[in-house]
Amino acid sequence: MSDCLFCKFVRKEIPTRVVFEDDACLAFEDINPKAPVHVLIIPKKHLGSINDMASEDQVTLGQLAFVAKRIAQDKKIDQSGYRAVINTGPDAGQSVFHIHLHLLGGRPMAWPPG
Ligand code: AMP
Ligand code: ZN
Repeated sequence: MSDCLFCKFVRKEIPTRVVFEDDACLAFEDINPKAPVHVLIIPKKHLGSINDMASEDQVTLGQLAFVAKRIAQDKKIDQSGYRAVINTGPDAGQSVFHIHLHLLGGRPMAWPPG
């Protein structure tokens, strides 16, 4: 999508702090981290939110979770624990409409979220 910020990261039109990349996914540091580890993991294919998923996108979301696991291991938070969050729509506070999984860790987190 031409005017989507995260698609511009995928196309390398805007630099970002890349943590991991493969054919399907890009992971980069959140610009406003909410925890010592705060990485956003996105599919390279533009998808606005979970609401826009088609049947074939089920695989894509599985890839995001698998990348989260690998980054959690790399950042050494796999044993202490972490949260993997996909905000969807206004009540969840979604602000960027290219689906992204937040990987948050490195500190204890409260439940339920605010
Ligand atoms: P959400 O509110 O779930 O849509 O999350 C959007 C996330 O994108 C927020 O955590 C922002 O801090 C993050 N974000 C916004 N702009 C940038 C950017 N230029 N680089 C990295 N992360 C960003
Ligand atoms: Zn996009």
